[in-house]
Amino acid sequence: MFRNYLFLLIIFSLSDTVAAATPTRRAAPAPATQPAPAGDAAGNDMYAWCNAVTLAIPQIKLKPCMTADLKPVAVKSVRGRHIMLREFKPAQPPAARVLVIGGIHGDELTSASIVFRWLEILQQPDNAASVYHWRVIPVMNPDGLLARPPTRVNARGVDLNRNFPTYNWLKEAPRYWETKTRRDPRRYPGRSPASEPESRWLHDEIVRFRPDVIVSIHAPYGVLDFDGPPTGVEAPLRFGRLHLNRVGVYPGSLGNFGGLKEGIPVVTLELPHALKMPTEAELTHVWNDMQRWLRVNLIERRMAQPAAPAVPAAPVDTAALPEDAVSAP
Ligand SMILES: [Zn+2]
Repeated sequence: MFRNYLFLLIIFSLSDTVAAATPTRRAAPAPATQPAPAGDAAGNDMYAWCNAVTLAIPQIKLKPCMTADLKPVAVKSVRGRHIMLREFKPAQPPAARVLVIGGIHGDELTSASIVFRWLEILQQPDNAASVYHWRVIPVMNPDGLLARPPTRVNARGVDLNRNFPTYNWLKEAPRYWETKTRRDPRRYPGRSPASEPESRWLHDEIVRFRPDVIVSIHAPYGVLDFDGPPTGVEAPLRFGRLHLNRVGVYPGSLGNFGGLKEGIPVVTLELPHALKMPTEAELTHVWNDMQRWLRVNLIERRMAQPAAPAVPAAPVDTAALPEDAVSAP
C-alpha cells in the first residue's frame, strides 16, 4: 500500500516538474479559442501574433516581441494577419524620418530577425538613434513568413517587391517576368501595380510618412544596394561586411519605386544568409555603420548646406487653380 502511494506521489511530482519545465508559450491556451478578458483584445491579438512569428523565426524570443510595443496598421494581409509597426518619435522634433522594412520576402527569416534586434536597440533610453523619427515594420509579409514552408511571395503568389507602381509597370513588369525570369512563380509581379493589400498599404505609408530614407532588408546575397535621386543622400559604401554593389533596378521593386519614382533614397541590406543570423559582432558593426551613414547624410551634410534665403509667400491666385486644389486641406 505504502509502495503504491509512494509510486503515485513520484508520478504526481514528476508531472508537476514536466509542467513547470514546459515553456509557458506552448502550454498557454491558443488565444483564438480562449475568450479574451474584457478590454484585452489587443493584448490577446499581440500574443497570437508574437507567438506565431517567434515560432516561425527561432532567433526571436517571445518576450522581446511582446514588449516591442508594436501596433497593427490599418490594413491586414491577404489572409487577415496583422502587419505590425513600431513608431519612435524623435527626442526633438522636427527630425529626419527613417522607414525600416523587414520580411517583405517571407522566406528571408533573417531580414525580420535583424529588425527585431534593432527594435531592442531603439527602445533603449538615450540611444543615439533617437534623433530620428522612426517607423519600423519587422514583418511586411506575414502570410509568406507563416506559410509552411515560408514563401517569398504573399498568399496570392505575388512578389510584393515587384508589385510597387514604378514607371511603366503595366508594360515592363509582366514583360520582365515572362522574358527575364521565364515566369518564375517566386517573382510574379501580380496583375496590376499595388494590387496586394500589403504593397498597397506600404505604398500609401511611404506617401504619408515621406521618409528621408527607407531601409529595406533582404537576404541572401550579402551586399548593400542603393537607389536614390542623384542629389541629397550619398550611397553608403559599406555596413559591416556588406559592401555597396548595385544589383540593378527591377520593374515594381521598392528600390525602383522609392528611389527613382518618389525620389526617396532606399538602402537595401542583403544579408548573407536567409536562415542564419550574422554574428553579434557583425550585427553591431552593421548597426554602427548604418548610424554613422544616417548621421552624415541626414544631419551633418544638411547642417553644412547654406540655409535657403527666406522668401515671402506670394499670394495664391485661387482663380487659377482647379477646384480640387482650392478645397484640398
Ligand atoms: Zn528578398
